[in-house]
Amino acid sequence: MNLKKQIEELKKSDPFADPDHATDNAAVDTDVREQVGHDTIEAEIKDLQRRLQDIEIAVQKIRKGKYGMCERCGKEIPLPRLKILPEARYCVDCEQKLRR
Ligand SMILES: [Zn+2]
Repeated sequence: MNLKKQIEELKKSDPFADPDHATDNAAVDTDVREQVGHDTIEAEIKDLQRRLQDIEIAVQKIRKGKYGMCERCGKEIPLPRLKILPEARYCVDCEQKLRR
C-alpha cells in the first residue's frame, strides 16, 4: 500500500478541491455536507501524513542500523510489536508514558 498515493487520492476527493466549490451557490445543506466531508478527509490526510513521517523515520533508522531501538530509552523494541507497527519509534513502555 502506498501512503503517498492514498494521500493524493484523499486530496482529490476533498469537496474543497473542486474549483467550483466557492462559486457554485450550493444550498446550505450541501455546504454543510461539503464541510463535514472536508474535515473528515483532512483528518484522514493528517493521520496518513503522520504515519508516512514515522515510516520515513524508520527507514532512516534502518540506514543507520538503529532500526528497532526505542528512541526514548534505547532499548530494543520487541519484535511482535514491530510486526504490528513496523514504524514504531518507541517501546511499549515509553509509548504509554509519552501518551499520558
Ligand atoms: Zn523505550
